Amino acid sequence: MEFNKEQKIIGIRVLSDNIIWLWKKNNSAVVVDPAVSQPVIEYLKANNLNLVAILQTHHHSDHIGGTKKLEKEWPNVKIVASAKEKSRIPFQNLSVKDGDKLQLLDKEVQVIEVIGHTKSHIAFYFKDKFPVLFIGDTLFSAGCGRVFEGTYKQMYNSLKKIKDLPKNTLIYCAHEYTRANLLWALNLEPKNKSIKKKLIEVEKKIALKELTIPFLLEEEMKINLFLRADNLNGFSFLRANKDTWV
Ligand code: ZN
Ligand code: FE
Repeated sequence: MEFNKEQKIIGIRVLSDNIIWLWKKNNSAVVVDPAVSQPVIEYLKANNLNLVAILQTHHHSDHIGGTKKLEKEWPNVKIVASAKEKSRIPFQNLSVKDGDKLQLLDKEVQVIEVIGHTKSHIAFYFKDKFPVLFIGDTLFSAGCGRVFEGTYKQMYNSLKKIKDLPKNTLIYCAHEYTRANLLWALNLEPKNKSIKKKLIEVEKKIALKELTIPFLLEEEMKINLFLRADNLNGFSFLRANKDTWV
């Protein structure tokens, strides 16, 4: 768990490699994809924070597992999820779709649909000094989500939407997969200096027990082979290759 009081978005590590993001302002907090509830409840109570919203990017259990218990503790919490997922995220009470805007912690948060990992995966974006994107399981540092329900084309188009955001966007994904992804990328591009440099940085952070996330879109464009793929065939090759890589 990383409990850095100076930061306004903190990451709580849970399960084997999930990260629950907790965004706070004054006495209010928003939580993204609570895989479990206990460490979130502990942190919120220890810091006298009122949970105002839970943002759900998609229905997988490692993203919604803690939601019901959090709602029990904070019964007025807004549970924001895709309107297309009313059966798989049945406890949602604020159903949203692509392009919707929400007011949260004095920010206008935009819903961006990024399908591919699931058929209705959404992301949440807001402008700040460094704009923030909570991307769930669509993009990881040096990797991207597995295509479980959608098509490669949908995932490729979702990544294009991310690439269209400002280059200084800070991206918060839901899993700490960075090191393994970099090793895969380096296997494909052994001479890529940016990837090598990133791997050294990431290993330093891991040794210090720090998170390697968030990451900056601009830097990710140099090391993420999926973001760099400029056509569907290139993307599809990479995705299929990664699926068979051990
Ligand atoms: Zn998932
Ligand atoms: Fe996940």
